[in-house]
Amino acid sequence: MRRLAFPAFAALMLLLPVLPVPDFWITQSNYIGLYALVALGLVVLTGVGGLTSFGQAAFVGVGAYTSAFLSTKLGVSPWLTLFVGIAIAVAVAVVLGAITLRMSGHYLPLATIAWGLVLNYSMANTEGLGKYDGLLGIPSLQLAGFDLGSGRGLHDLIWLCALVAALAVMNLLDSRPGRAIRSLKSGSTMAEAMGISTFRYKLVAFVLAAVLAAVSGWLFAHFQRTVNPTPFSIAKGIEYLFMAVLGGIGNVWGAFLGSAVVRIIEDQLQVLLPRLIGTSGNFETIVFGIVLVVVLKYAPEGLWAFVARRFPPAPRAPDWHGAAALPTRARPARGELLLDVDRVRKAFGGLVAVNDVSFRIHAGDIVGLIGPNGAGKSTTFNLITGVHGLSGGQVTFRGEAVGPLPSREIARRGIGRTFQHVKMVPEMTVLENVALGGYLRSRAGTLAAMLRLDRDEERRLFAEAERQLARIGMADRMHELAGNLPLGPQRLMEIARALATDPALLLLDEPAAGLRHKEKAALADVLRQLKAEGMSILLVEHDMDFVMGLVDRIVVMEFGTKLMEGTPAEVQASPAVRAAYLGTEH
Ligand code: ADP
Ligand code: MG
Repeated sequence: MRRLAFPAFAALMLLLPVLPVPDFWITQSNYIGLYALVALGLVVLTGVGGLTSFGQAAFVGVGAYTSAFLSTKLGVSPWLTLFVGIAIAVAVAVVLGAITLRMSGHYLPLATIAWGLVLNYSMANTEGLGKYDGLLGIPSLQLAGFDLGSGRGLHDLIWLCALVAALAVMNLLDSRPGRAIRSLKSGSTMAEAMGISTFRYKLVAFVLAAVLAAVSGWLFAHFQRTVNPTPFSIAKGIEYLFMAVLGGIGNVWGAFLGSAVVRIIEDQLQVLLPRLIGTSGNFETIVFGIVLVVVLKYAPEGLWAFVARRFPPAPRAPDWHGAAALPTRARPARGELLLDVDRVRKAFGGLVAVNDVSFRIHAGDIVGLIGPNGAGKSTTFNLITGVHGLSGGQVTFRGEAVGPLPSREIARRGIGRTFQHVKMVPEMTVLENVALGGYLRSRAGTLAAMLRLDRDEERRLFAEAERQLARIGMADRMHELAGNLPLGPQRLMEIARALATDPALLLLDEPAAGLRHKEKAALADVLRQLKAEGMSILLVEHDMDFVMGLVDRIVVMEFGTKLMEGTPAEVQASPAVRAAYLGTEH
């Protein structure tokens, strides 16, 4: 039933022009398809990626004006102008994205308003583009002797574009780059620690949204046969965002539903409002504003959520059994100096959280890092993994100074980690979260993913993810949403994800915290097994019994400084440690 839903919908839409439906319906359907293309871009950019853009209408304008100008003034074939329009949209998006996508919080949406206005005013004030009057007499599209000039003629091209785009976006979201985009909303720290350049995927989402908008603009220009600046204004940009939010901004079909609802309301209001209030004006904007507030309050996941609730997604059928293993890195030789932490220092303003701490880890070592709360253990982890920049000192990993490197580059060199406060993508399944760990061991790009050329590698990624989950005793929960798990299993999931990076050194920040007794015992088993395999581990843990049986050496921190280093027995015997650490426990 679900598998037939898409083909059935596609067939219905593509057959619409030959069915005995009134021209008015065809026109509406054309607009819905055109809007849905833009809204689809916003699903990826805003709904999935968490980057709000009010400026998408400007990209529609880029596609429309490019084709209008080239086909009317220079006589270029409209089929060619599509590609020129896309190229210009990509170029503009890359430049704007490079400038604005590093902004955080509310600055990005504000920036999209700014460049949306700038692009729109440029269209309205350029002599060659006809200023506010725009360009008239745009030729219709011709295909194999058919004139696609009428609404009916163009309908299937519009819908073919929209349906192909929907398929491509669905493929993308279920792929390596798609999971990277889906991780953007959960903050950059975890994704970067898995080797993902979050900026790169923000740019990918931004460019993709711009391209979809430009295609919509191209179709729009040859549908209307005239362009002027009004449909590409910020007001329209807000309306596109409204469609995506109304439909359900995280979902591909929400884009279609939102576009349809907005188009129909818009049309009805243009008839109704003048009758009700006696004047014509842009009062529908006010109604949209009210509807938006109501939707955000009562259906924040949009209208599609009501449909989706009745058809919950089926868990992905495991088709990856027997897939080849992902590439692995060369193991360091036992005893090789792996990590050299040399007088590292971190000051947060006046607070010195880590004060000239030094220790070393050799391949095969399991080292415990202990100390009272606030001693600087997690900060030390963040210094080693590049989450924080060093205020002083040096970190050398396998002979290379990694201090200046960004987190993802350190991950690439073989340091895998977990976080004291679990970091995950709650709306992804456990399996998908763990597959994020395999990011650097795989390579499928955005285009390959949209074209479904990545299936072989996807199977390998999921096979690896399942293998790591099985190791940690969680294979039976792989299809659950990560956000629905209790804290203990979430922590274990993080360990599986870190293992999926094929680390040479594993950093675990309080892995046993919040675990039940049985889970703790299972974790200890896994750590012992890793130790037997020669894995090197740096471990922060408060449970002394847990640490004592496992680690070769312990580094004790207090108030940011290293208090002592020694074997578990030496540490337990130390009066200073007793006073500083054990003393606070008992
Ligand atoms: P531990 O992990 O040993 O409990 P942390 O490394 O988390 O300790 O914290 C050490 C000290 O640094 C604490 O006083 C903490 O408040 C402070 N600290 C940690 N991270 C930050 C930060 N990002 N900004 C400011 N202070 C921080
Ligand atoms: Mg900590």
